Amino acid sequence: MAKSKSISSHQNIEDLAFFGGSPTFSKPLHVGRPNIGNRERLLERINDALDRKWLSNDGPFVQELEQRFADYAGGKYCIAMCNGTISLEIAIRALDLQGEVIVPSFTFIATAHALQWQKITPVFCDIDPITHNIDPNSIEKLITPKTTGILGVHVWGRPCNIDLLEKIARKHDLKLAFDASHAVGCSHQGQTIGNFGEASIFSFHATKFFNTFEGGAVVTNNEQLAEKIRLMKNFGFGPGYDNVIYIGTNGKMNEISAAMGLTSLDSINDFIDINRQNYQQYRQKLSGIPGIKFTTYNENEKNNYQYIILEVDDRETKFTRDELVEILHAENVLARRYFFPGCHQMEPYRSYFPNTNLLLPETEKLTRKVLSLPTGTAVDINKINEICRIIQLVVKQGKKLRERLDRENSQKH
Ligand SMILES: *Cc1c(COP(=O)(O)O)cnc(C)c1O
Repeated sequence: MAKSKSISSHQNIEDLAFFGGSPTFSKPLHVGRPNIGNRERLLERINDALDRKWLSNDGPFVQELEQRFADYAGGKYCIAMCNGTISLEIAIRALDLQGEVIVPSFTFIATAHALQWQKITPVFCDIDPITHNIDPNSIEKLITPKTTGILGVHVWGRPCNIDLLEKIARKHDLKLAFDASHAVGCSHQGQTIGNFGEASIFSFHATKFFNTFEGGAVVTNNEQLAEKIRLMKNFGFGPGYDNVIYIGTNGKMNEISAAMGLTSLDSINDFIDINRQNYQQYRQKLSGIPGIKFTTYNENEKNNYQYIILEVDDRETKFTRDELVEILHAENVLARRYFFPGCHQMEPYRSYFPNTNLLLPETEKLTRKVLSLPTGTAVDINKINEICRIIQLVVKQGKKLRERLDRENSQKH
């Protein structure tokens, strides 16, 4: 195999591709490049499905995936669906959430949309700046007579403060569920992540480290809830033929997606190993750089290490997060500003609740600091070293960088 072109690393700010130098990488490195397991096994399974002529409607692959994923995620019941967003919507509806639901703004927009889509108001809650997760201490002041639930998000796969959330939910008689889209394969206090709250919702989108092309699932220990979700995702069809017993929609997963899911599950430990090695390399190279905070995972728990997250504190660095993202993009390192802006700054929420930003100081700060770097099978140790060298260079020569950026900016205006 041809080794990817190794370019001598930049020695100087002036060498950066952003200022006209040649990019460190000849091809773009993406965040969230899909993991593909054993291709032969996948094609074999797809052939099986084609031979069976059973392509959807609770086929054998979907049933097998539900079984295996329930075991893996640690809940009694798993209902696989066509994507994570529909899984969220159906879970929210099956839980009978109404009125207002408390949710972090620091999440992917689907968490908020899944509520608003059903005319439930997402009440945005601030986050803990250390964990990036919903701040339990900010929840109680948001509770009104209309509040019916709390939807926590395990951001980066790091579990919410589940114990405190459970306590608050119990005290105020609220339903507690989790958007666990980031948390496939993670644990909390030694228990697999699908064991908490009324339900956990997962996304198997292609950009997640475990994917089914498009897909998602709800995992729950509540048998009645599981039954309700099964009806809802299949038009409300009960047992037998032509027997509609409930209002429903179409949230079914197809057999090809399930074939991908089974094949991904076969390799999931390998995917996590690669992510862990990448994480350790990034951590070693990026720890202790002034103004750059490296997000760590709790080694006493199971993690999937699928997100490499930095916080750029521009009071210490001479450049902003956005400037660093632009510099990295010029080098073909397609770093991303996850999640920017916060949900409360996107439509329709920005118009519905115009002053929410004042209530979310930590979210506002974090959305301006955070960035995510490429990992997974898209990178290897050498590439990570190169990426880190760029970051080390711009921090070390920050003053020169600032001067050059300011010079270019003043020329533009
Ligand atoms: C990916 C993601 C979703 C949406 O999942 P889809 O499968 O893309 O519909 C929801 N919430 C969070 C936090 C996500 O990261």
